[in-house]
Amino acid sequence: MPSDLTPLMKQYREIKSRYGDGILLFQVGDFYETFYEDAHEVSRLLNITLTTRDREKANPVPLAGVPVHAAESYIAKLLQAGRKVVVCDQVEETPGAGGLVKRVVTDVVTPGTTLAPATLVEKENNYIVSMVRDGEACGFAILDVSTGEFSAGEDSPAAVETILAALPIREAIVPAGSTGLPELVRAINAACTIGELPPYRFDDGVAREALGAHFAVGNLACFGLEDRALGRAAAGALLGYVKELRHDELAHITGLRLLVSEESLFLDAETMRNLELFEPLRGNAPDTTVIHHLDRTETAPGARELRRRIMHPSRNATVINARLDGVSAFAADRSSLGALRTRLRRFPDVERLLSRITTRRAGPRELLALSDALARIPEIASLAGRFGAPIVGEAVERLLTPSRVREIVERGIDPESPSHLRDGGVIRRGWSPELDELMNASEAGKAWIASLQESERRRAGISSLKVGYNRVFGYYIEISRVHDAKVPADYVAKQTLASSQRYVTEELKAREQAILTADARRVELEREVFDQICGEIARESAALQRVSAGVAALDVLSSLADLAVERDYCRPEITETNDLSIRGGRHPVVEIISGKNFIPNDVEIRSDEKSFLIITGPNMGGKSTYIRQTALISILAHAGSFVPASRAVVGLMDRIFTRVGASDNLARGQSTFLVEMGETAKILHNCTSRSLVILDEIGRGTSTLDGLSIAWAVSEYLLEDEGRRPMTLFATHYHELTHLAERYPHVRNLHVEVKEWGDSILFLYRIKEGQSDRSYGIHVAKLAGLPEKVIARANEILGMLEKEKAADTVPERPRPAQTSLFREVDAVRERLRGIDVDGMTPLEALELLAELQRLSRE
Ligand code: ATP
Repeated sequence: MPSDLTPLMKQYREIKSRYGDGILLFQVGDFYETFYEDAHEVSRLLNITLTTRDREKANPVPLAGVPVHAAESYIAKLLQAGRKVVVCDQVEETPGAGGLVKRVVTDVVTPGTTLAPATLVEKENNYIVSMVRDGEACGFAILDVSTGEFSAGEDSPAAVETILAALPIREAIVPAGSTGLPELVRAINAACTIGELPPYRFDDGVAREALGAHFAVGNLACFGLEDRALGRAAAGALLGYVKELRHDELAHITGLRLLVSEESLFLDAETMRNLELFEPLRGNAPDTTVIHHLDRTETAPGARELRRRIMHPSRNATVINARLDGVSAFAADRSSLGALRTRLRRFPDVERLLSRITTRRAGPRELLALSDALARIPEIASLAGRFGAPIVGEAVERLLTPSRVREIVERGIDPESPSHLRDGGVIRRGWSPELDELMNASEAGKAWIASLQESERRRAGISSLKVGYNRVFGYYIEISRVHDAKVPADYVAKQTLASSQRYVTEELKAREQAILTADARRVELEREVFDQICGEIARESAALQRVSAGVAALDVLSSLADLAVERDYCRPEITETNDLSIRGGRHPVVEIISGKNFIPNDVEIRSDEKSFLIITGPNMGGKSTYIRQTALISILAHAGSFVPASRAVVGLMDRIFTRVGASDNLARGQSTFLVEMGETAKILHNCTSRSLVILDEIGRGTSTLDGLSIAWAVSEYLLEDEGRRPMTLFATHYHELTHLAERYPHVRNLHVEVKEWGDSILFLYRIKEGQSDRSYGIHVAKLAGLPEKVIARANEILGMLEKEKAADTVPERPRPAQTSLFREVDAVRERLRGIDVDGMTPLEALELLAELQRLSRE
């Protein structure tokens, strides 16, 4: 440490050296200051001025500061940027020996463990994940500190990626030096903060001890972790890490759930993205997302539960049917449904209130809010009791879990409490005799002072005498100067004003001192008692979580019922067979955006007959919508929701894969085509006969022949393996693929219907049997407003190309380009084959036509 450092900077350096990897917010008076590298970073991330401290010295210290009173929003921004923040507070008013006030680290916050409301998204979980790896096995654990939800499991790295994909994971811990894990975390969420911990912290012994001690259990079999060492290691390390940050206050983490892949229908990150389940593919407007139209929940825990169900739909027919029974029961009694939903409205987020209480971050009003919430439970339970389904009964049972919380709050907390403990007056009389005594002393003193004005007026014979209080001088007696002569001898002058004089007496001073001492001690003691009360509530965590889970379950079921009734969704029939049969299916988002004009369509996939559907037809004809709605209906059914169709029979599936359009991943430095092929490879490696595969054009990112060859070979691969032939819907512009039906009995050709009007077309959005006879690309180009001349020329060129093609036969395999007698036609054709019509802007199309014209003149 440089010897010329000021004492303050020495203190800073000493603390910083202990918390090196976090940004240290160091309180200096009314500001949190950051220095050196931290200052540079903070100034950049928060967009605040970078200045210097100790300017006159040879090496001035870079400095950036934020006001203490506004710190919460700045900390939230740092967390959103993925930083760890260490808060170091001044804990003394006046400097002790050495001229420095004492400073201690009062909080360490990280993106995955924060509990600050400004950082948390109400309807989303906020997870921290921990991972370990041993060869091809990977253990993982996820925890939402803000709700207490804790789960663990183990699987192959690819499966772990799938399980965790798209979960709102903000932070990860992995053993230092582990190969592949940081990459795996980044594949799940590129923006995740990754911390590397010493490997011993992932040791099995450490894990057993940490988990056993926290849950007070002798063995971990109750969590299904007894024979899962890696899952256990990940969970133990995670609990240990969070405990350290949260100073052991984790009583709300009451259980550990095993996440097993066999239990849910897997949706990988691409599928969630492609189907726009939670995030829009383009832009930020949420109204193209499925969740936006699906989520009618009234409570935050309900909203989070719904998201979990959509992310991890069940594969268990009993579970799904129980949920569907619940939705049916709610949908059948609309007036009770409405009444229940009104009662659920703005029901507080018990899970998050609880986590704030157990980690001692809650104020008195939050305890009162919790108690008020619990007071609303009996009414909700009795309304829910009107619905007969067993799953509703279970939710009601959870709701009615007895707890002492209301009694504790009612006994301990004054209903008129201020929001901050420091203002005093929070604890009710009767909880602590010592506190009651202090209250008595303070109140007696204040009563004496209140009566003082009257008695002194009488004693001095001055009717205008006043007793007052100000923060600088404390209590005083004020007498107008005209009565100077009458001032009693024991009055001591304290302050002279223009027309009056303020006095104190010995007794007034003594009483004041007694009041101040009692009040100060009272605030201190109230803090202690409040802490005790929070501790008592923390002991009720498990009960409160059951209550919250009951609320969430009722909220999800009733919101799905509301949706079903209003949007005319039907109850899907879940079967163990491998088929999918949908009558009058609709896309839950497009049907809303396109209003009343949406055309419903049927889907019929039979695994033993026709399981591979090839859909051809013009651009904009509705192919993507059709195949996506099929995937969405399947997901909703597995999640236990009614579906947008008039009838649906849905066989249980293990995974849904989608490969949709061209999506590039510049962040990972991969080309569009590479990403597309990567996604296709993943499908081919992982699909089974229980999977649903949605392919919206593959191979478009390369030349037409390459693309067609790949699409053809991929189709063959999916069709040929009898044991693992998935249900497939393939929308394509490669008309050649329709010939697959001549070779494979499982292929069925479908097309989107259009009506021709002279040289223009009308989209009917109806899916019909058989292949489409034309691609109508030029019609669509015309609709898009390409100049008449260009359209005419394109038709001419198409005519030429089609004539040549007429001589072609069905390819055994797609063939190489033929030689042509006419060099220019050949060149034009080659150029045309290489273009991606769908990916072109009108301007690019125009430029292309100009180029074609040039080629044909050569
Ligand atoms: P491309 O081949 O260019 O990707 P596509 O055939 O996949 O086109 P979609 O993207 O599915 O076409 O649909 C285009 C538009 O047509 C949709 O945005 C929607 O507005 C409308 N549409 C699709 N299906 C229907 C339907 N069943 N009823 C009414 N409108 C529909």
